[in-house]
Amino acid sequence: MREKGREKFYQDYSEIIHLFGSYLKRKTKTEKNRGYEKQGSDGGEENSQVLLGNLCHSIQNCQKCSLRESRNNLVFGAGNPDAELMLIGEAPGREEDLQGKPFVGAAGRLLTEALGRVGLSRADVYIANILKCRPPDNRNPQPEEIKVCFPYLERQIEIIKPKLICTMGNFASQLLLKTSQGITRIRGKVQWYKENTSIIPIFHPAACIYKPGREGDFLEDLKMVRDELKKRNNSKNNLVV
Ligand code: URA
Repeated sequence: MREKGREKFYQDYSEIIHLFGSYLKRKTKTEKNRGYEKQGSDGGEENSQVLLGNLCHSIQNCQKCSLRESRNNLVFGAGNPDAELMLIGEAPGREEDLQGKPFVGAAGRLLTEALGRVGLSRADVYIANILKCRPPDNRNPQPEEIKVCFPYLERQIEIIKPKLICTMGNFASQLLLKTSQGITRIRGKVQWYKENTSIIPIFHPAACIYKPGREGDFLEDLKMVRDELKKRNNSKNNLVV
């Protein structure tokens, strides 16, 4: 009798432990989605908005390359700090440099409109660039500039922990995917990046401005992004019991 009692006790005990474990998993997931507590890389529980704010503050006077001399504003990034989708461009242009925000010029307007047309909202995503300062006359980013600026983007990704990163154009796609293949070849091919994050490379919205006829391609690309995100959200890996 005493044996049976002990067995029952252990059964109940392990059930409680199991239920508590499930509860903790659900709680973490809910808080992450609401943008509350998150695991910082220093091991502490931190809010991603605070972590991004601290990072932004810490690099305001970055002196690691000469772009600080010609820029007006550092363009850190903008959007939902707990976004499931992160969009990455090349470098700020004239309008972005003046406003200190990414993708607010002609390419940005095109991007915002296209996102809306495929049912994605700009408010839900996070947008950043490889370079945080505008290269003079919108010239291409130089290897040395990329080398010193890329760690800031990597840290942003680490804080946000998006499910999907959408690299727009050659620069961002080749850098994050460590490839020399052009965007036309790799566009739409989903690849694993780190932990629970994948990358999907797509055309840069500015290509729609310079190359007439690309707008349809860009919309197609964003539809792939939307569908991939849906797939990720429906996959078992992302379900919390
Ligand atoms: N092009 C980019 O790559 N980034 C911007 O922020 C604006 C235009």
